[in-house]
Amino acid sequence: MKYRILQLLVLSIVLVACGSDKKEEEDKSQPIKIQSSSSDVAKEVSLQLGSNDEMKYDKNSFKVRAGQKVTLTLTHNGEQDKAVMGHNFVLLKQGTNVDEFASKAIASKDNDYIPEGDQIIAHTKMIGGGESTTITFDAPEKGTYDFICSFPGHYALMRGKFIVE
Ligand code: ZN
Repeated sequence: MKYRILQLLVLSIVLVACGSDKKEEEDKSQPIKIQSSSSDVAKEVSLQLGSNDEMKYDKNSFKVRAGQKVTLTLTHNGEQDKAVMGHNFVLLKQGTNVDEFASKAIASKDNDYIPEGDQIIAHTKMIGGGESTTITFDAPEKGTYDFICSFPGHYALMRGKFIVE
């Protein structure tokens, strides 16, 4: 009996070790993860975000699943130049003060209004009317994140919630 328990213990340790160390490798080589309870969740998700000359996104929230590879395409359906009505998508880490971040962004004109620091999870480039841009990133851990356009003054209207479940 004692031996049997030991055997189980060793087995579970091995499973745990495999699960944590090889997770990324498995993700690439094995599309179907049998042991995972989320095996029916798509590995990748494509998101579309529109924007316009009225300083608005066409969505104020997104929902993805933890661990998904996110491909996000931002489209500017307006006509104005990016120097006047530029838009981007900036996904911020939790705990980031959006007002402070936006203030720092204003001072970062030379860098497409992307301030230095480690508060950004992912961001697109700044685009103008008629343009679109695509980025790919891994969804962060479960939680709710803010996304904004960091062009000066835009985040008051151009902001939303990026929800990871
Ligand atoms: Zn904008």
